[in-house]
Amino acid sequence: MTKHIDTIAVHAGREDFQELGIHAAPLDFSSTYPVKDLESGRDSIDALAAGGATADSPIYARLHNPTVHRYECAFAKLENAEAGIAFASGMSAIHAVLMSLKIRAMQDAVVRNHIVAVRPIYGCTDHLLSSGLLGFDVDWVQEHEIKATVREDTALVIIETPANPTLSLVDIEDVVKQAGTVPVMVDNTFATPLLQSPLALGATFSVHSATKYLGGHGDVIAGMIATDESWAAHIRQIRILTGGNMHPMAAYLLLRSLPTLPMRVERAQQNAIHLANKLEAHPAVAKVHYPGLAASDPRGLVAKQMKGPGSVISIEMVGGYEAASKAMKSTKLFIPAVSLGSTDSLIEHPAGLTHRIVSEDGRKSGGVTEGMLRLAVGIENQDDLWADIDQAISE
Ligand SMILES: *Cc1c(COP(=O)(O)O)cnc(C)c1O
Repeated sequence: MTKHIDTIAVHAGREDFQELGIHAAPLDFSSTYPVKDLESGRDSIDALAAGGATADSPIYARLHNPTVHRYECAFAKLENAEAGIAFASGMSAIHAVLMSLKIRAMQDAVVRNHIVAVRPIYGCTDHLLSSGLLGFDVDWVQEHEIKATVREDTALVIIETPANPTLSLVDIEDVVKQAGTVPVMVDNTFATPLLQSPLALGATFSVHSATKYLGGHGDVIAGMIATDESWAAHIRQIRILTGGNMHPMAAYLLLRSLPTLPMRVERAQQNAIHLANKLEAHPAVAKVHYPGLAASDPRGLVAKQMKGPGSVISIEMVGGYEAASKAMKSTKLFIPAVSLGSTDSLIEHPAGLTHRIVSEDGRKSGGVTEGMLRLAVGIENQDDLWADIDQAISE
């Protein structure tokens, strides 16, 4: 019988514990690994350099680490993916997806340097693409323009849904259809594997800043990619060559956070639904962006592709920037900090902080306004959270 995802979250990555006689994940800090003999060492290097997930010997921790791989396998189960690949940060994971496109193009002996992306997306992803740093030619389009923008040399379509920071939703299945044979990368950070499964909807890559819900306690920077085995091999090769590996301590903490992920996601979501409804009726708030509100989801995409609206809310203050700045100074429970997905609730100003690196044009077309505040709702008591945010935004 296939298990439910909340059961999988508790047991994934722990399948061999009984056999090993342990109850907590082994934490392997080795930087180098003894080989049995030269010949088996040679074979292991060949296997890992070709992008294999495992080998007889890990050889060297930039090539493989057993604690990290344990988390990769657990994460892959949650995403129902052939492979999970772990990175030192969400950005390092996104960078690896982009670089893997170059390996694939070299293998196919074609030039494929064009990327189609839909705004808004995470500020640093936006900047990485629009800065031209990696040499890609990027077209920023609306969701319905993807098909008309895809060219013979298009390497990737990039979307984020729910998007950071406006919580706007993109129809994954429709984007995959528009992209045709071009792979689609979905930043699944806001939804988590609990609420959305991009691969099941036809996406090629589901990427996460594991710093957020997967870590869940504000103490890890990490990134994850779920994909099929053929892309995973390219991505592992990029990791070997450029060294964006996740530290084994981060993998240990992520494994420790995994069993409570479903509970944390569900509780924070209940809180967010409660707050979003109250915020919608608050006189100091001009607009609430939250996928759980009918006005934010006119196409019914939460019902179509998600199991719930998640726990990030953006609000636009009637009083604009001044009111947003004042609210950030006035909260007692909501901590004024970037990031999200932690047990505690955070409040931040996207235009001034997380999306400051995005060009003014990019912010405008993405709908990131000066009066916008992003609330990353945690797992505290919902009445306490409401009392805090209510007093902070009321005059
Ligand atoms: C935080 C975040 C990232 C970047 O992840 P890091 O772990 O900070 O490198 C990427 N995408 C989204 C949606 C994020 O929220």
